[in-house]
Amino acid sequence: MVELSESDSRTLLRRLRDTLATEGDGQDRLNHITQIIADSMGTEVCSIYLFRDPETLELCATEGLKAEAVHHTRMRLGEGLVGRVARSGRPINSADAPSEPGFRYMPETGEEIYSSFVGVPIQRVGEKLGVLVVQSKDERSFSDDELYGLEVVAMVLAEMTELGAFTGGENSEIGATHRFPVMFRGATGQEGAAEGRVWLHEPRVVVTNPVAEDPEAEAARLEEAITELRGKIDEMLASPTLIDKDQRQVLETFKMLAASKGWKRRMLEDIAAGLSAEAAVEKEQNAARDRMRKAPDPYLRERLNDLDDLSNRLLRQLTGQGSDTGAEMPENPVLVARNIGPAELLDYDRKLKGVVLEEGSVGSHAAIVTRALSIPLVIHAGRITAEALNGDPILVDGDQGVVHLRPEESVAHAFRDKIAMQAEAQKRYASLRDQPAMDKSGQTVSLMMNAGLMADLPSLKGSGADGVGLFRTELQFLTRTKVPRRNELVQLYKRVMDAADGKRVNFRTLDIGSDKVVPYMKPQDEPNPAMGWRALRVGLDKPGILRMQLQALLRAADGRPTSIMFPFIALPEEFYAARDTLLRVRDREAQMGRPVPEELRIGAMLETPSLGFAPDSFYRDCDFISIGGNDLKQFFFAADRENERVRRRYDTLDGSFLNFLERIIARCAVSDTHLSFCGEDAGRPIESLTFAALGIRTLSMRPASIGPVKHLIRRADLGELRQVIQQARNAGQSSVRPAVTSYLAHL
Ligand code: PEP
Ligand code: MG
Repeated sequence: MVELSESDSRTLLRRLRDTLATEGDGQDRLNHITQIIADSMGTEVCSIYLFRDPETLELCATEGLKAEAVHHTRMRLGEGLVGRVARSGRPINSADAPSEPGFRYMPETGEEIYSSFVGVPIQRVGEKLGVLVVQSKDERSFSDDELYGLEVVAMVLAEMTELGAFTGGENSEIGATHRFPVMFRGATGQEGAAEGRVWLHEPRVVVTNPVAEDPEAEAARLEEAITELRGKIDEMLASPTLIDKDQRQVLETFKMLAASKGWKRRMLEDIAAGLSAEAAVEKEQNAARDRMRKAPDPYLRERLNDLDDLSNRLLRQLTGQGSDTGAEMPENPVLVARNIGPAELLDYDRKLKGVVLEEGSVGSHAAIVTRALSIPLVIHAGRITAEALNGDPILVDGDQGVVHLRPEESVAHAFRDKIAMQAEAQKRYASLRDQPAMDKSGQTVSLMMNAGLMADLPSLKGSGADGVGLFRTELQFLTRTKVPRRNELVQLYKRVMDAADGKRVNFRTLDIGSDKVVPYMKPQDEPNPAMGWRALRVGLDKPGILRMQLQALLRAADGRPTSIMFPFIALPEEFYAARDTLLRVRDREAQMGRPVPEELRIGAMLETPSLGFAPDSFYRDCDFISIGGNDLKQFFFAADRENERVRRRYDTLDGSFLNFLERIIARCAVSDTHLSFCGEDAGRPIESLTFAALGIRTLSMRPASIGPVKHLIRRADLGELRQVIQQARNAGQSSVRPAVTSYLAHL
């Protein structure tokens, strides 16, 4: 084997690239490429193995091994040296291959006479495509430079594979990327099932020129792109709209990484070896991903993750491919993303059929938006953004937390049956629409719906809800780039009240902060935004917006009965201050001769444990109390609602939480204060029946849950269920879930 100088490497890459322009099919190109590589590297053998399916590699072209072995020799992932390279994503460089652990002798290839072996993975942004191997008769180790040269070649082969250079012809299936069915087992973010086509929130960048014409010009392009990227990061950091501490931290890390000399040096070396700037960025991105997989330290993993993001930004900068590639959104789009905030998700409006995220959390507001939109959400879906392409068929099973990408027809078939069954069940529930949620003993529960989008309004009729128990007004603020004008809000709230047609709507005043970030608020650098300056705390400190919103609500009501509640109250004084603001606004409206509601109900959301211990007078002074279980639970158990790892450790039906709820129920009974529950748990059948049995007789939930919850209430006897719950607690069971589940299963 001869040493590869930089100029040899460039000549080799150019020859590879030229094969793209040659006549012939993919097989011809592969054959030609193995000849070129063996020739340039001075080795007897060069072979290319590509994945036939996710578990099997196939010898697809060779120079030096027996031609009959091509498309016959196969190995499983992890089998033999080639399989080991493919599985680990790391090269193997051995002077004495037969003595290596895992060496597998394959007589059909005639390879026993070759002693030395170098295998490097062919991979692109986390996706394994195959293995490139060179072999030589003499027993010698290849230098690091030679290995590096082969890695550069493998990068070009990866880009060519992605471009479909090796497909077509007899073996058109092999090497065609993104075509296998893949299943991702994640977690349920929101139940439901959907079939559709992938729509990537941030589409993959396509590199059409893996090989550089002119390394100097390419290096200059890279330098320029990095400088521009750094400029953009600085701009973003200086932007007054940057509110979120996490965003700031990520940008600071980006800034640090973008200035990293090692990162740039490695990319410049790749360019000197003949890669284009884009391919060099990807090569280093691959390396970072490989390190990421192995990094034991979560902090380091996070930084490598940031480097991955930064590489994507740099690729977009270099290729000019923004998130808007001009691609048309397919019909029935299923959004696939690493993660997404509630505002971005709302930008998609009602178009989406489902959402699949690599990260995400059940307690996040993005999850609440999917709930409001009644579309399934699967979170923690592996590395789906590396696999999925825009337009790929996809099935989202929100119930099981499973996603099938490019499913086999049999899977799609079974899935469609499931969707049809759910539609059937929905039809059955629809027949209950005008029936009361009355249990067997004649006790009724009022089932209301949560809303926040105009698009929710038709559900008011369709679901049979008794009204809107929680109208999240901030969703309208999250979708704008500026504070909405008062008049806009008046129109909006008016439409909501019109649609409610006399049914009650509990408007919750603006609840921003925490993960609900509005772009027009000054950046807050808070160590813990969930317990920070959010919701009513912001409203009381900046009363201008609160007053404007209250005015808009009263004007929209135009004298009709109105119900307003304040979020996230930790102290009675906060409620009183907000109530005073509202009453002052009302009096001013009256002075100006505007109609004011005769019936104005002013309520508090109970979202912090402290309110459970507030004085009796507070309970008397609230016209109604609505338990915001999402927040209450996170503070009760001290477990971040957005952190899946800790969130799932605590059960809503744990005895201690139920004790707390009972305390509130009893206090509201004494003061005759109307009580409701409007957190997400109200829409979960087992939880909602438990709450009703304990005595919470108004539950507000996503519209799609009303049918199933009503169906169960009508079959249950809440008094009996209460006894079941009591027995479970007397027996010392920490959670009453098993007892309630078994009671409901036997109805
Ligand atoms: C809650 O905390 O339960 C609630 C209803 O409010 P949000 O989810 O909007 O914080
Ligand atoms: Mg809340």
